[in-house]
Amino acid sequence: MDKDFTHIFQEIPFLGQLAEITQAIGTEAYLVGGFVRDLLLGRAGKDIDIVCVGSGVDFALKVAEKLDKDISVTTYRNFGTAMFRYEEWTLEFVGARKESYDRHSRKPAVENGTLQDDQNRRDFTINALAISLNKQDLGTLIDPFGGLEDLRKKIIQTPLNPDITFSDDPLRMMRAIRFATKLNFDIAPDTFEAIIRNKERIQIVSQERITDELNKIILADTPSYGFKLLFHSGLLHYIFPEMVELQGVEAVGDKKHKDNFYHTLQVLDNLSEKTQDLWLRWAAILHDIAKPATKRFDEKIGWTFHGHDEKGAKMVPHIFRKLKLPMGENMRLVQKLVRLHLRPIALVKDNITDSALRRLLFEAGNDLEALMMLCRADITSKDHQKVKKYLANFDKVEQRLKEIEEKDRLRSFQPVITGELIMQTFGLKPCKEVGIIKAEVREAILDGAIPNELPQAFEFMLEVGRKHGLQPLKEEN
Ligand code: ATP
Ligand code: MG
Repeated sequence: MDKDFTHIFQEIPFLGQLAEITQAIGTEAYLVGGFVRDLLLGRAGKDIDIVCVGSGVDFALKVAEKLDKDISVTTYRNFGTAMFRYEEWTLEFVGARKESYDRHSRKPAVENGTLQDDQNRRDFTINALAISLNKQDLGTLIDPFGGLEDLRKKIIQTPLNPDITFSDDPLRMMRAIRFATKLNFDIAPDTFEAIIRNKERIQIVSQERITDELNKIILADTPSYGFKLLFHSGLLHYIFPEMVELQGVEAVGDKKHKDNFYHTLQVLDNLSEKTQDLWLRWAAILHDIAKPATKRFDEKIGWTFHGHDEKGAKMVPHIFRKLKLPMGENMRLVQKLVRLHLRPIALVKDNITDSALRRLLFEAGNDLEALMMLCRADITSKDHQKVKKYLANFDKVEQRLKEIEEKDRLRSFQPVITGELIMQTFGLKPCKEVGIIKAEVREAILDGAIPNELPQAFEFMLEVGRKHGLQPLKEEN
């Protein structure tokens, strides 16, 4: 079922140039992998995967030389791969190879092979398509496993026996789910059943590779689909058990709580409609993560999850560390959003004081928009009238926050009274009192008792100091 794709060399002139160079060098080479898949889906990318018969490194060096002598080629001789960038393109080269795996070792034995051998070792039929760059069959699609048909039918399946494909490199199970989620494809039933059978082998894969795929799932348009596949295959139990804990509904009499797994997925999808930001999406995933740990049943009020915001925030660093996600600023943002996610809801009531709003502005700082986005996404009622009402309430809260913000400019709030100033004024070394005075001044500013301006705040600091039995070294004028 070969098919003619010569038109791509006119449509994308750089591919025409690549074909000419390939023929001048005289090496047998093909476009392959994700590049061909996306090209046939009408969403050609800028990362070009090329396979050649022979040394991928030597071929890459020759192609680079002909394009531009100054290109620097990154080579991985051990893997037989090489890559370089040219204009807007990233080219990745690999020599065709035949892989055989020994069940007891994770490293495959690799030999040079033919194009067919190389297609056999690829993960899915839709990733095993090749288009010839060679003179005798230029533009021919070489499709031994019906990948083109699977693209049309929107199906992910392995080219060979899925048990062998997944056992050889268990990360492919996550890749199957990632491609299904990203492309909105189905996973063929026998491929999915093989994932279920091989799920526990995911444990031999490095955390970095797993988390990389997980993040790609999270960045899809509808990430819930990927999480449902991870859950139903059983992979989620190995890679992210805290999330599995969210699943399920408990009842006492006729009092049930909602299923927090599906709720979380709905929040994640809602938020994903508004932002591509990976870390905001992580905040959605983790916002209720401590609900299982804080769940109680109270005879009078029913199910409660008191403190799940604070406890959830505490769990964030542990989860990030385990998943080998970066522990810096992004982690702190996720933690902050988890900690604050209930606060705007508490501000919906009519009789809320300015000082409560001021506190939220102060604590959320520049992440207020992100927090409000999460809170809006957190509304998952099926009753449209209710959703409308809740969203309108948030509009009101946002309006009031804006007014206070304009009045007090609290977002960039840096209390004018610093620890330094307290120590200087009272002649103190760093100690508990410094923290106490600083906090009292800050609270007074947030309560609106004094403005955040120097003369008044300084005067107030002196008062607080005296109350704690401290005398200033010299009176300021
Ligand atoms: P994307 O670049 O969008 O993540 P891709 O399909 O290009 O998708 P890459 O990881 O760039 O994925 O790999 C390029 C190609 O290499 C794949 O299309 C596939 O043919 C092959 N491949 C990559 N990883 C594996 C793997 N673990 N097992 C088998 N084949 C793989
Ligand atoms: Mg790629």
